[in-house]
Amino acid sequence: MVAIIESDCTGCDLCISHCPFEALLPLLVSPPERTKAKRPVVVVEEQCVGCLSCIGSCPTQALHEIQAPPSAITSPLLHPPKRPVTEKVNRWKKGGLRWA
Ligand code: SF4
Ligand code: SF4
Repeated sequence: MVAIIESDCTGCDLCISHCPFEALLPLLVSPPERTKAKRPVVVVEEQCVGCLSCIGSCPTQALHEIQAPPSAITSPLLHPPKRPVTEKVNRWKKGGLRWA
């Protein structure tokens, strides 16, 4: 799977269109302790299949491969954690981002 180092994520959104499974989405609200102006993008673990299509898309290398999320006891595909509240991103409808 992949994870994002939040402090290294500028919220540029470049990675979003590289995920065919729509597992990379912007948080709806920035965490209160965040110092960067723009909200971060997060990995929606229940949708990430670990295909690594996104891995080279991050200019700050905030996005990196991990064996499993630090909080996972077993595969998050079997027991997904609580889904973060994210913005909706238009990927496939008319005028959507599609796949880079
Ligand atoms: S590893 Fe694949 S499924 Fe997971 S976020 Fe990256 S592109 Fe999406
Ligand atoms: S490409 Fe990197 S810096 Fe940009 S939103 Fe994605 S994880 Fe954050």
